[in-house]
Amino acid sequence: MSESHPFTVSSFYLFIKEKRLMAAKCSKCGTIVLPPKPMCTKCFCTDIEWIELNGTGKLLSYTVIHVAPEQFQSMVPYCVGIVEFNDGLRLPGIIKDIQPEQLKVGMELKTDFECEPSSTWPCWTRYYFKPV
Ligand SMILES: [Zn+2]
Repeated sequence: MSESHPFTVSSFYLFIKEKRLMAAKCSKCGTIVLPPKPMCTKCFCTDIEWIELNGTGKLLSYTVIHVAPEQFQSMVPYCVGIVEFNDGLRLPGIIKDIQPEQLKVGMELKTDFECEPSSTWPCWTRYYFKPV
C-alpha cells in the first residue's frame, strides 16, 4: 500500500493488516496524531506524513473483562489496557500472553498482530499487546 494513503482511522487499520503500527505526524510542528487525522491537532496544519511506531510502551491502566461482546466471548476473562508509547501516544487494546494477576501498571508491553479467521472476512488482522 502507498504511504500517500489518507490520514484516517480506516487507513490505520489497513496498515494493521500489513502488521504496521502507523501514526500521522505533522511536518510543521512534529506533533504525532494517533488515531490519524488529516489535520495536526496542535497547529491545524494539513502537511501530514505517515510514521511507523515501534509499538513498545508502558501499561498505563487496565481492566479485566469478564462480560465480553459476542466475538470476544471465547477469550473471557481477558485484559484490556491503555499503553503509552515513548512519544506520549496512547492506544487502547487487548493484552494477551499474560495472566491478569501478573499485570502491573508501568510494565513494558509491545504491540503484536494476529490474524483472526472470520466467516465474513477471509482474515481479519488486529493488533494486541503482550509482555516484552
Ligand atoms: Zn502541527
